[in-house]
Amino acid sequence: MTIAAGAELLDYDDVIARYDPVLGLEVHVELSTATKMFCGCATTFGAEPNTQVCPVCLGLPGSLPVLNEAAVESAIRIGLALNCEIVDWCRFARKNYFYPDMPKNYQISQYDEPIAINGYLEVPLEDGSTWRVEIERAHMEEDTGKSLHIGSDTGRIAGATESLLDYNRAGVPLIEIVTKPIVGAGAGAPQVARAYVTALRDLLRALGVSDVRMDQGSMRCDSNVSLMPKGASEFGTRSETKNVNSLKSVEVAVQYEMRRQAAVLGSGGTVTQETRHFHEDGYTSPGRTKETAEDYRYFPEPDLEPVAPSRDLVDRLRATIPELPWLTRKRIQQDWGISDEVMRDLVNAGAVELVAATVEAGAPSESARAWWGNFLVQKANEAGVGLDRLAITPAQVAAVVKLVEEGKLSNKLARQVVEGVLAGEGEPEQVMTDRGLALVRDDSLMQSAVDEALAANPDVAEKIRGGKVQAAGAIVGAVMKATKGQADAARVRELVLAACGQS
Ligand code: ADP
Ligand code: MG
Ligand code: ZN
Repeated sequence: MTIAAGAELLDYDDVIARYDPVLGLEVHVELSTATKMFCGCATTFGAEPNTQVCPVCLGLPGSLPVLNEAAVESAIRIGLALNCEIVDWCRFARKNYFYPDMPKNYQISQYDEPIAINGYLEVPLEDGSTWRVEIERAHMEEDTGKSLHIGSDTGRIAGATESLLDYNRAGVPLIEIVTKPIVGAGAGAPQVARAYVTALRDLLRALGVSDVRMDQGSMRCDSNVSLMPKGASEFGTRSETKNVNSLKSVEVAVQYEMRRQAAVLGSGGTVTQETRHFHEDGYTSPGRTKETAEDYRYFPEPDLEPVAPSRDLVDRLRATIPELPWLTRKRIQQDWGISDEVMRDLVNAGAVELVAATVEAGAPSESARAWWGNFLVQKANEAGVGLDRLAITPAQVAAVVKLVEEGKLSNKLARQVVEGVLAGEGEPEQVMTDRGLALVRDDSLMQSAVDEALAANPDVAEKIRGGKVQAAGAIVGAVMKATKGQADAARVRELVLAACGQS
């Protein structure tokens, strides 16, 4: 056993030898609708605090919610993509609890009447096999605001001197997707958990319903873990680790809880049913003991009508469900002829669709990959945004590739053109012209630059004439400098050698 952050942990191999883990994953995803769930306020991330609020999402007396139709459609599409049954009729419920970041003192959610039930997702695992995760339900709710606690080391309320509240997020549409208990994954449980959340993220991204940024909280995962003695069939008591905010952390949190609970059980203790906090350095700590459904005093939301999606609507939405992204990817990977590793890097960078669209626009896949996978990823990181938020389209990247292929730009000059496009200076060709970046293709222009360089460096010229062709590099360098890198270096070299009688 080792000690970490106060809790005793059993070695992982011993955990597996003695216990079977059971998992349950609850994923909250913020929809990327333009407006909130029950009012017309904007949902833009990162706006000045409390600038995207109104009487409805502030819960002021007398205000009434109006349901966002686009959010319902997204919920149905998510349900369909998860192979769920979409119910004919469902309602919202009030979930009553007090929290300063929830101004109404209740959250509008769905309880026993969710919009989508009984689905599954075939999750691809790293070894190439798939794991079928059964989905219990997907339901609609609204997000809460955000508290910011100041003055404590941890950023939590304990020890804080002040707490600030931002209600911009209050009322943003959320879909909560809850799995049925995942049983039988054994030692692979942490990987299955991670693979599921990864697959779900990719699927939601392909659906275009959310920007699924775990780092910005638009996708958050609560992981439930329990252990039962090997061979038992009755589930043990679970802990629920809240708001795990990266894919890696999902895996770490599950594994940590398995080892912690095994140590508790092994020493004759009992696991407490509670929520736990996840810490970035890889451990969990106790939160509150879990409320039961009764504590929330759920009742049907009286201010909203029931939701009864017509079968026509459901069929229309069903037709918009894309192929599973990992199947698309497998096909694309074969077309492009690239390794699993290269593909994984592109996937992690969120570049696959962009590269595919660039290929579609006429670029060879290799060049398209190089642009998005290297230079543009770097630009996106510098700007702190996702690749798809960069101010350049696949068609524009393809246009740059074409200019390079036509010999109008070198790779170096092409990067400057791309920078111009990113800076809003126009289409690639325009930027090239405006910035005067096109390669000098005109022999007579290059010839005069060569003549000048030779005249300015008579000793070097003499060496070349005497047969030391390596010395030509210095003249080529001088010409490139004089033309600000815009001459065609290979052609310049030919001209230098010809001028010195060496060709
Ligand atoms: P809560 O409202 O307490 O969060 P939910 O029903 O929303 O409960 O979600 C509980 C999650 O935990 C579900 O994914 C469920 O499948 C899973 N689960 C239920 N019992 C156990 C258990 N004993 N061990 C692990 N996971 C469990
Ligand atoms: Mg829950
Ligand atoms: Zn509002």
